[in-house]
Amino acid sequence: MRYISTRGQAPALNFEDVLLAGLATDGGLYVPENLPRFTQEEIASWAGLPYHELAFRVMRPFVAGSIPDADFKKILEETYGVFSHNAIAPLRQLNGNEWVMELFHGPTLAFKDFALQLLGRLLDYVLQKRGERVVIVGATSGDTGSAAIEGCKHCENVDIFILHPHNRVSEVQRRQMTTIFGENIHNIAIEGNFDDCQEMVKASFADQSFLKGTRLVAVNSINWARIMAQIVYYFHAALQLGGPARSVSFSVPTGNFGDIFAGYLARNMGLPINQLIVATNRNDILHRFMSGNQYVKETLHATLSPSMDIMVSSNFERLLFDLHGRNGAAIASLMDSFRQGGGFSVEAERWTEARKLFDSLAVDDAQTCETIAEVFGQSGELLDPHTAIGVRAARECRRSLDIPMVILGTAHPVKFPEAVEKAGVGKALELPAHLSDLFERNERCTVLPNDLKAVQAFVSQHGNRGKPL
Ligand SMILES: *Cc1c(COP(=O)(O)O)cnc(C)c1O
Repeated sequence: MRYISTRGQAPALNFEDVLLAGLATDGGLYVPENLPRFTQEEIASWAGLPYHELAFRVMRPFVAGSIPDADFKKILEETYGVFSHNAIAPLRQLNGNEWVMELFHGPTLAFKDFALQLLGRLLDYVLQKRGERVVIVGATSGDTGSAAIEGCKHCENVDIFILHPHNRVSEVQRRQMTTIFGENIHNIAIEGNFDDCQEMVKASFADQSFLKGTRLVAVNSINWARIMAQIVYYFHAALQLGGPARSVSFSVPTGNFGDIFAGYLARNMGLPINQLIVATNRNDILHRFMSGNQYVKETLHATLSPSMDIMVSSNFERLLFDLHGRNGAAIASLMDSFRQGGGFSVEAERWTEARKLFDSLAVDDAQTCETIAEVFGQSGELLDPHTAIGVRAARECRRSLDIPMVILGTAHPVKFPEAVEKAGVGKALELPAHLSDLFERNERCTVLPNDLKAVQAFVSQHGNRGKPL
């Protein structure tokens, strides 16, 4: 399988190189040159497979030529073996034909584990084969950091540095990062805000001389392997609800458009999906595009669903590429005008095409709490605020009651106690068994000033399993 850039000016890469690449050299994102397509008979024959076996069938074409089948199977078995629920992504019924797919049974209790548990193992496999080591430097305001650390903690060939804003992440989220020990794991608390952390990561990618030749790898949501891993659970849900003979709809709590883009790919690979609902919080750039063909940057709002607090949606460019007939030059010029003027619309036919599949809704904090309380009252299910936004959007945007509606349950409610308390459901939140002693565990973290040079010096001092590069 070969991968090409959405802006048309970067070299095509194979899977191995795309795994290590991050952004393409022309500023675009990598997508498969040709998407695999499965027949209905083939998809139907996968019913009842264990999750890792289904994952093998869905993802095999994407890694073809880079990872032999037997090795890939073993990696997938290990990846999903660490999940705490036998079904890996169980469906729970809320109402008649309405389901929540629980994607929070991984080590850090959010759906990002599905991709990052796999990414860590894929990186280690590829690096082992090449005899290389890499350094990961990432910024987090919460979920991604802990999932990335959990995913990389066993990697022999990866040192991971995660920057978080000092005293500005929740205690659960901080402890999920700082209580994981390993000579290759480095938590850095920056005396600054999340943007400061992100700026330092960007600057480190732009000038990597402090790494003395060691390669820097991105684990943010534009990494292709993360998108790829997320395609699988759309197939998994549909197969349990009568697919592919019957079509299914999905409502997806959305920030950077990675998770829902995976659903779009599942459909293009042959899975009958009737409707994809983009559910956003008050940071609603995607809702403004889907409802009014305006893709315009606005200020950032802090919400009760912080993992969806974004101003621009990095993976949206991948959808735009398809909507524009995969014309890289058109995307490059659209993105240029976005950078300069802060916004764009697309031609009416292209927008109408997108609207055949996508609907959207923006849900504010008050409505989020209302929905948590409503669902708890109806079914006793306690939703996290991100998932609640998905449920709200599903109920308002649903096109057909005959088609099963699956809401992606992206996080466990215990990670976001503030929203649950505000909803006033009066149910105590409990950490799952594997994290029950989280508040008693020792923490390891280095506090550094908001200073690029200090951070880079720390990385180069510790980037080789705690020793200097
Ligand atoms: C990351 C995240 C999202 C948003 O996913 P995208 O792929 O960025 O759209 C939603 N909910 C939770 C809990 C998350 O951690």
